[in-house]
Amino acid sequence: MYKDIIECAVDEKYRKIFSDKISGSYDFVNKSIIGYSLCGREIECYHFGARTNVVIYCGGFHGSEWITTLLLMNFIKDICVSLCNNTLISGIKASNFLDNYGVYIIPCVNPDGVEIAINGSCTAKEYAPLVDSITYDTVHWQSNARGVDLNHNFNAGWEHLKHLEIESGINFPSYTRYGGSNYESEPEVQALVKFCKSIDFRHAIAFHSQGEEIYWNYGENQYEKCFYIAKALSANSGYALSFPEGLAVGGGFKDWVIDKLNKPAFTIEIGKGKNPLPVSDIHSIYRRLLDMLVLGVVI
Ligand SMILES: [Zn+2]
Repeated sequence: MYKDIIECAVDEKYRKIFSDKISGSYDFVNKSIIGYSLCGREIECYHFGARTNVVIYCGGFHGSEWITTLLLMNFIKDICVSLCNNTLISGIKASNFLDNYGVYIIPCVNPDGVEIAINGSCTAKEYAPLVDSITYDTVHWQSNARGVDLNHNFNAGWEHLKHLEIESGINFPSYTRYGGSNYESEPEVQALVKFCKSIDFRHAIAFHSQGEEIYWNYGENQYEKCFYIAKALSANSGYALSFPEGLAVGGGFKDWVIDKLNKPAFTIEIGKGKNPLPVSDIHSIYRRLLDMLVLGVVI
């Protein structure tokens, strides 16, 4: 599988080509739209395998971390190829693990942020002047189109996080770490919350791009179960288990799943360096994490 790794800045145009090609080539692909971004871009979800016993994979929360979207698109492609041709993925046929397990993959939770990071502020449509007023350095843009960091906008310790943001001088829309005027104020977060409440899943994994580590806990909910799964993911990938600190605590997707849905959830930081990671990093990252992506579905 490795020889065919997709290496591409996954902006809106490329994702559309990919999406059409996957749907056109494989009639078993089950694709849905779980919601729309602030600028009206689709938030796509791909489902593979069983309808029960499912997990959720999400990427592209932070604009400049679009390599996480690329990681999940490569996984989608390899699942499709394996289901179609009975080729091996991580040493087994996809049909062997997808008979009894299922996975929902949302490659890009923040399509506006990814577009801003790759193609600049003009892609933010009516929010372009706001983006320009915040920064001209859009390559490092993390937030959505109105400057809210989606991973600070979930309802899990949001008030405490807001306090820390204000203490750090983050009172206004920003390219990073501004949690919004209230939790779940952003359509992208609302879409993901609604989707997660609509299905009975075992656990969820959010992919981010900085640190080669795994965050696995929030408070005491699901502590042992999270730790057990995280240890397996860590052993498989070689990524360290970590505890977030300061402005990285609370407000995130993982935190909300653990806190409000009482299910295990994880943040996996897939790479190391400075965001955005060079697109060529996808080769080593995908090789290193493919086994873990399969393990995460069945564990
Ligand atoms: Zn991130």
